Amino acid sequence: MASERKITCKNFLDELTDYLDENAAPEIRVSLEAHLAKCPDCWVVYDETKKSVQIVQKMDCRSMPADVRYRLQSALEAHWKKV
Ligand SMILES: [Zn+2]
Repeated sequence: MASERKITCKNFLDELTDYLDENAAPEIRVSLEAHLAKCPDCWVVYDETKKSVQIVQKMDCRSMPADVRYRLQSALEAHWKKV
């Protein structure tokens, strides 16, 4: 069994919200962290997304509301189309 799954930036973005919600499986978390360590572009997206999530959580929401999640997804997709 491979210790590290190869993931792409697309995979990373697909898993990012689960990762931040702490819903991702441990082996996925390891893969995402490995990807973060070597991909500065995803690190920027991760950092911005994490801050957004923290703001939402401060507003007393346990998980991201669907509209926030949707806007975030759109912003991320726009970001990745520019790269
Ligand atoms: Zn990446």
